[in-house]
Amino acid sequence: DVKENGGGNYKMYEPGIATRTLERILLENELRKSVKLGYFTLEYQPKMNLSRRNLSGVEALVRWNHPDLGRIPPDKFIPLAEETKIILPLGEWILREACRQAAEWKRQGCSPVRIAVNMSTVQLEDPEIIETIKRILFEEKVEPELIEIELTETSFADRDEMRETIQWIRDFGMHVAIDDFGTGYSTFSYIKELPADAVKIDMSFVKDIDVNENSRAIIKAIVALADTAGLNVIAEGIETEEQAKILHSLGCREGQGYYFSKPVPPADCEFLFSERAKNE
Ligand code: C2E
Ligand code: MG
Ligand code: MG
Ligand code: MG
Repeated sequence: DVKENGGGNYKMYEPGIATRTLERILLENELRKSVKLGYFTLEYQPKMNLSRRNLSGVEALVRWNHPDLGRIPPDKFIPLAEETKIILPLGEWILREACRQAAEWKRQGCSPVRIAVNMSTVQLEDPEIIETIKRILFEEKVEPELIEIELTETSFADRDEMRETIQWIRDFGMHVAIDDFGTGYSTFSYIKELPADAVKIDMSFVKDIDVNENSRAIIKAIVALADTAGLNVIAEGIETEEQAKILHSLGCREGQGYYFSKPVPPADCEFLFSERAKNE
C-alpha cells in the first residue's frame, strides 16, 4: 500500500523485488514451455580411470537451449525447476534421453560404459519415482547396471523414505554415487553408512590441491574412509595434469574434468569408446 509505506520510499525499493519476481515468473513460464517443446539436450562428460587413462564412464548433463534467450546454464534453472517441481517432468525426460542414448550406443556396437544421471532430492521425494524409473528402463530396454544415479548428500541425510528409495535403486541394479562430496553439513565418517557405490569429491578440494596441504589431507581422508566402506572415489573438476597426478598418488582411482574433456554432444565422445575397446 503506497500510502502506508509513505509514498516515495515505496518506489525506492519495491521495483527491484517486483522485477525479480517478474523475471522469475517469466523464466518459470519459459521453462514449463520448453519441457513441452523439447528445448533440452544432454551433453556427456567422460569419467577417466586415472592410472590407465581410459574411459570408465560418462556423466549426462542437461542443457537448455532457448530459441530467444540462448543457452541457459543448469545452475540458473535447476534450482527454479526444483522449487516449481518442473524438475519432475524434466528429470523424467533426462533419464529417458540418457537411456535412449545408452541403447543407441549399444546398437552402434560401442563398448558399453555406465552413464551417470544427476537426480534432484525433489525427484527422489516424488512418490511415483520408483514406478517412473522402472517404466523408463523397461520402455527403453536398458539394463539398470548401465545407469548410475548421482545424488547429493542432502538426499541421504533427509529422511528414511528417501534412504529406502536409494536402497531400492541399488537393489534394482543401478549404481548410486554421492555428488559434490565434502560440501554437505555432515562429517565424512558417515559415508560408511551410506547406501552408495561411489563418492565424487567436490571440485573445490581439487582446485588448489597442488598448493593447499589441507585439501590434500581432506582427499586422503575421504579416500581412506571410502576404501573401508568399499566405495569407489571419483575426483571432479580436474583441470591440469599435475592435479591428475596428485589425485592418483592420493589413491583416487577415477577423475573427471576439463583436462580430460568438457561435457560434449554424444557424437563427440564416441571416439573414446573405440579407444577404450583398443585398451581392453
Ligand atoms: P555436477 O553434477 O556436480 O556437475 C559438474 C559440473 O561441473 C558441470 O557443470 C560440469 O560441466 C562442470 N565441470 C566439469 N569439469 C569441470 C572442470 O574441470 N572445471 C570446472 N570449472 N567445471 C567443471 P554444469 O553442466 O553446468 O552443471 C552444474 C550442476 O547442475 C551439476 O553439478 C548438477 O548439480 C546440475 N545438473 C546438471 N545437469 C543436471 C541434470 O540432468 N539433472 C539434475 N537434477 N541436475 C543437473
Ligand atoms: Mg553430477
Ligand atoms: Mg559435482
Ligand atoms: Mg554440483
